[in-house]
Amino acid sequence: MLGVILCNYCGSEIATVDTEKVTVFYTDCKRDVCREQRKGKEDKQR
Ligand SMILES: [Zn+2]
Repeated sequence: MLGVILCNYCGSEIATVDTEKVTVFYTDCKRDVCREQRKGKEDKQR
């Protein structure tokens, strides 16, 4: 089966991985705009 890793912010596909069932993972890609958004989120939670 295939899992896919998507960027939480821009939705672009970062990578695919072998998994036991079809799964979607969310993370942030390496684009500056997405990393800035993640930083802002963390600041808000505090
Ligand atoms: Zn992104």
